[in-house]
Amino acid sequence: MSDLKKLNQIYEGKAKKVFATDSPDLYIVEYKDDATAFNGLKHGTIAGKGVINNKMSNLMFALLEKHGVKTHFVEQLSDRETVVKAVKIVPLEIIIRNVAAGSFSKRYGVEEGTALKCPTLEFSLKDDALNDPLINDSHIIALGVATEKELDDIRTLAYKVNDVLKEFFLSIGVKLIDFKIEAGRLPSGEIILADEISPDTCRFWDAKTNEKLDKDRFRRDLGGVEEAYQEIFKRINSK
Ligand code: UDP
Repeated sequence: MSDLKKLNQIYEGKAKKVFATDSPDLYIVEYKDDATAFNGLKHGTIAGKGVINNKMSNLMFALLEKHGVKTHFVEQLSDRETVVKAVKIVPLEIIIRNVAAGSFSKRYGVEEGTALKCPTLEFSLKDDALNDPLINDSHIIALGVATEKELDDIRTLAYKVNDVLKEFFLSIGVKLIDFKIEAGRLPSGEIILADEISPDTCRFWDAKTNEKLDKDRFRRDLGGVEEAYQEIFKRINSK
């Protein structure tokens, strides 16, 4: 893998860049320190975030693979770069919640921190111009965003990711409040887990104190942003 050639950039998102390689089946992702919130309205930098999110995502993908979840992870190349399987991202934000927070709390008037009787699953259409609107299953199928079979696979994948991650984070004294994942299609059509799993995309609360150890510290100007990312990473590595 070390002789894999990094070619042209094919995509730049808010937190990552994606590069083609000399292998058509593989991309290289590069994690940045750039942070945005509220659909890009708030911009900033979180020093060292790219390194932590790269390494943490890879550890989470490896853990999930061990539990039978197929992911795009192939090999970490450097502090900020990872080789991943080339997939076409399904343009959905797949959100699982165990505890009410954020937009869910606002939408339904439920206090943040309220435990939910069961995990919930919701989808948003990934479309910045439309502000990532909520979308339901029939809309997804009717618009051709994904097929019914793909949605079934995505749901199964998302709940499995929740089961594995919830248990893992509890073992390091962290409550997994909610998270967002993305799914990709392999050339065979198979759906696998893609994107990242990091404090940018999950809400993590300390199990004892409920201290926030995620991007909400940046979104809500709570201070201690870098320290929160470092703390989560330290706990993961203590396992
Ligand atoms: N999330 C994300 N990207 C987004 C929106 C949400 O990674 O564009 C994550 C967020 O970090 C949280 C979960 O998805 O862990 C649920 O977020 P919510 O819908 O509550 O939105 P927010 O309050 O962040 O706007």
